Amino acid sequence: MSSFGYNNRILMVNLSSGEIGLEHPGDAFYRRYVGGANLGAYYLLKNWKKGIGALDPENTIVFAASPLTGTPVPGFSRHSVVSVSPLTGTIVDSEAGGYFGPELKKAGYDAVVITGKAKKPVYLAILDDKVELKSAENIWGRVTKEAEMGIRKDLKEDKAIVTQIGPAGENLVSFACIVNNLKHFNGRGGLGAVMGSKNLKAIAVRGSKKVNVFNEELLREKVKSFAGKFKDNPFNNLLNRLGTAGVTTLQNTDGQLPTKNFQTGVFSKAENLSGEKIHETIFHRAEACYACSVRCKMTVSNETEGFELDPAYGGPEYEGISALGPYTEIGDLLTVAKANEMCNKYGLDAVSMGSIAAFAMECYEKGLIKKEEAEGIELVFGNNEALIQLIKAVKERKGIGNLLADGIRKAAEKMGKEAEKLAVHVKGMDFAAHDPRAKVSFGLAYAVQPIGPDHIGHFGDPGLSPDGFDNVPDQLNSFGFYDTHSPDDLDLGKAAFFYYGQMINSFHDVFDICTFTSVPGGTWELSDILELIKAITGWNYSAWELMKLGERRVNMLKVFNVLNGIGAEEDRLPPRMFEPFQSGPRKGAKIEKEALEKTIKAYYQVAGWDSSGVPGKAKLIELGLGWLSERLEKKE
Ligand code: SF4
Repeated sequence: MSSFGYNNRILMVNLSSGEIGLEHPGDAFYRRYVGGANLGAYYLLKNWKKGIGALDPENTIVFAASPLTGTPVPGFSRHSVVSVSPLTGTIVDSEAGGYFGPELKKAGYDAVVITGKAKKPVYLAILDDKVELKSAENIWGRVTKEAEMGIRKDLKEDKAIVTQIGPAGENLVSFACIVNNLKHFNGRGGLGAVMGSKNLKAIAVRGSKKVNVFNEELLREKVKSFAGKFKDNPFNNLLNRLGTAGVTTLQNTDGQLPTKNFQTGVFSKAENLSGEKIHETIFHRAEACYACSVRCKMTVSNETEGFELDPAYGGPEYEGISALGPYTEIGDLLTVAKANEMCNKYGLDAVSMGSIAAFAMECYEKGLIKKEEAEGIELVFGNNEALIQLIKAVKERKGIGNLLADGIRKAAEKMGKEAEKLAVHVKGMDFAAHDPRAKVSFGLAYAVQPIGPDHIGHFGDPGLSPDGFDNVPDQLNSFGFYDTHSPDDLDLGKAAFFYYGQMINSFHDVFDICTFTSVPGGTWELSDILELIKAITGWNYSAWELMKLGERRVNMLKVFNVLNGIGAEEDRLPPRMFEPFQSGPRKGAKIEKEALEKTIKAYYQVAGWDSSGVPGKAKLIELGLGWLSERLEKKE
């Protein structure tokens, strides 16, 4: 039987022994686990044994695409990387756009499952059927652009797509990221350090095949329809004009731009960091992920001495701008753009870098980091030079940078109780730039998401508010939502609303679909997604099956955490969320602790989990995950 969308070939690589093999799991496997996040979670859980930590050689790291990845459809460019996170100790799946996933599919593989540790630095070269481990000793220590050039030269393949780590990953910084084409990131959770611990600098891939699809004509028609309508879609139109930085001003005027380590939601210099300001000043050109006409990736360039910006490294997006700017009270666009470029060069997650810088600044101002400990870095809010110095120190693990390189939770624990109160994180992962006090379903999301505070793991209650984007209510009707909700309510109804939103965004991660194009409010509607799946795979998917797919992902992640000793006590929010905003239009707003606790319990019930948040046997069997129920019973 021929397969459509997927290759039925999974590459298995053992870095310790150097063995490279193939698995062919078959149609039933792909229909149940699909690809992306679920395929990765499946292999991680199969290989993982109690006690294996993120940086142990026995840990597994999976690079997985879905049957949709690499077809010429806007938004179908992504791939997932799944492993144990050095930042949180949880399982983490992180999706990136760009070109790596499509190229892997074109080379004839759906995923690469990597175990072991190489004796010396290596990179994995995949040129269609030729797969080999090659020495990376010449490029170890190099910044990402130099390493990419070195690999392409070594392979004599100018068009090889390289996904890699920078010096931060090599130095095991626990929030090091993985980057493909220098500007598309598997950003969260420190997966770059997992690669670094394995002496794996990069995977380079070049493929010459085409993804085999079930119905070419229907696919062509659907792609054409997207081109005709995405500019009329308010959300995708905004992304097309200004990139994600287009929301910076909106967030600020609404009093929900996290500022000064989340002390307030307004920043007096936000206009300097807006999408409009980037366009007027350092904008180079708009770029896209594979086959996407939204082109929301704004690259930047600049030649001012000390602030040169190389467009090869992309440009700052909303999350990075917020973390490196308002979180630290830095309102100088060139400094923020330079800091962002440094993160991209060194392979650091810009969100975590900005978060830990803001945390360190508050600790310094409150006397919890002494001047001598900071070794000459004047760590006060708004200090441009301090941010630049700190990024270098973290990347090199020098001085105060060594403490901070272990992530916000470990750094705070070492500094003591007062510092822990200032550390804005859940399960060890710092917050993306959406403050739960302004939109409370993010509070629930940040508290209970198995990978930590994932801002994109649900669609957020503003979409359901009466003044949300116009076309959202229509799209949500298809999922059974008929009422509007205030973004300020934290109640049992919100638990159910959040749960369904979580499952919707979860199936995006499983199919590796870009949430921007496909979330309710995006151009692709649910009916389009179902037709596209049919056109590509021939599978007659239903909305129900999509939701179950999302649910399967969340339950697999949750089971991993329970087996690894991460339970309900970590489904919480940090102290700052129970403190009121200090200023701005939302002055006084805060999360009510009791309401949050009740809503978390209600969420567990909606999910079919027990009162400690452990997935029930019936739920796991319903999802085809009986094998995980047995592992929970045996606690192994
Ligand atoms: S909308 Fe933006 S992030 Fe999503 S696929 Fe298109 S270019 Fe990439």
